[in-house]
Amino acid sequence: MTTLANRIQYLSESETLAMSRKSRELKAEGHDVINLSLGEPDFHTPDYIKQAAKEAIDQNFTFYSPVAGYEDLRKAICIKLKRDNNLDYDCNQIVVSTGAKQSIANVMLSLVNPGDEVLVPTPYWVSYKEIIKVAEGKSVFIPATIENNFKVTPKQLEEAITPKTRVMIFSSPCNPTGSVYTREELLRIAEVMVKYPQVTIIADEIYEHINFIGKHESICQFGFIKDQVVLVNGVSKGYAMTGWRIGFIAAPLSIAKACDKLQGQFTSGASSIAQRASLKAFITEPNATPDMKTMQLAFRERRDLMLKLLSEIPGMRLNHPDGAFYIFPDISWYFGKSDGTTTINNSNDLCMYLLNKVFVALVPGDAFGDPRCIRFSYATSKEKLTEAAKRIKEALSQLN
Ligand code: PMP
Ligand code: GLU
Repeated sequence: MTTLANRIQYLSESETLAMSRKSRELKAEGHDVINLSLGEPDFHTPDYIKQAAKEAIDQNFTFYSPVAGYEDLRKAICIKLKRDNNLDYDCNQIVVSTGAKQSIANVMLSLVNPGDEVLVPTPYWVSYKEIIKVAEGKSVFIPATIENNFKVTPKQLEEAITPKTRVMIFSSPCNPTGSVYTREELLRIAEVMVKYPQVTIIADEIYEHINFIGKHESICQFGFIKDQVVLVNGVSKGYAMTGWRIGFIAAPLSIAKACDKLQGQFTSGASSIAQRASLKAFITEPNATPDMKTMQLAFRERRDLMLKLLSEIPGMRLNHPDGAFYIFPDISWYFGKSDGTTTINNSNDLCMYLLNKVFVALVPGDAFGDPRCIRFSYATSKEKLTEAAKRIKEALSQLN
């Protein structure tokens, strides 16, 4: 019998993708499932980007690209970073990968030795913990509570740092909470982290363009910390391009070179066609076409609608998300309640109850390090959101 390696046995399946798979299976059986589990825009990729991909095929961009990405794409990313974020990077500090997920894995594998500690503000995005596991690092969770709108304080971070700390990873706007760190909050974090130059910050900015409180703030803007930060971004969320699988890092040169080397052995680089499409996305000013504005507006309206609908359900303790497309309410009020058949002991039970009873797919907070909560992705139509909230309210009213 085949014995799989320990690293696979210890690795958990991505719970966001698992819930999405379950919801697809139920749909295939003929159930009317509303899937609010996956963090994926429901919009189509804008036409001008699709056109660039079609042209790339006709122009025979069909060979291996340089491992770190085409030079003109990396230059376009530098232009984007200057234009949108006022950040100066050189083209050789950029590495393009098969999604931001791979970018994060590259960086983690490049920096973390077995037993090294990685600071992970909680709630965190589901894959951080598992990527750290693959790198044989040790996750050190720093709990942020709903009272603090799920943001960690610089003091908490400093208290968690030990001589073994190598990395700190966080997202802003945050998946799963939608919280957005302000410029001042990032500055305070930077002021702490600069005292520990052995610690690299991975700043996951994949939700840059889905921000309802103004301009995106990057921790890289503070010159004194920039050499200690790896910025991660990509096209999946802001450009509705999840399936194209393009992400990138902007990093200190040594880390960029390490990721280039690693990726050279793992993938040889990202898809050539998707890279040409992403070049078009980055080179075009976000406001030059109506596409991004339309999506941003829709996400904001959906956020407002979802907050309103959920606030009408008893026992939902809501956070106020300022970005991304998630709401992460505390639903622990329902723990211990039962509909006579099923008893809800945790957020996983509640998720399965809602999936099996009213066919609404969500993700339990355990997946993100907070078992009292549940994640709603509202990246779907208002009609579906309204129907989902109606079903959830009805199902939860049967729990006593
Ligand atoms: N970081 C966060 C916080 C995410 O939510 C996602 C979503 N998949 C990713 C990274 C990875 O994005 P990509 O599709 O570019 O791999
Ligand atoms: N990031 C999205 C989510 O959290 C997509 C799924 C995934 O990549 O895990 O739902």
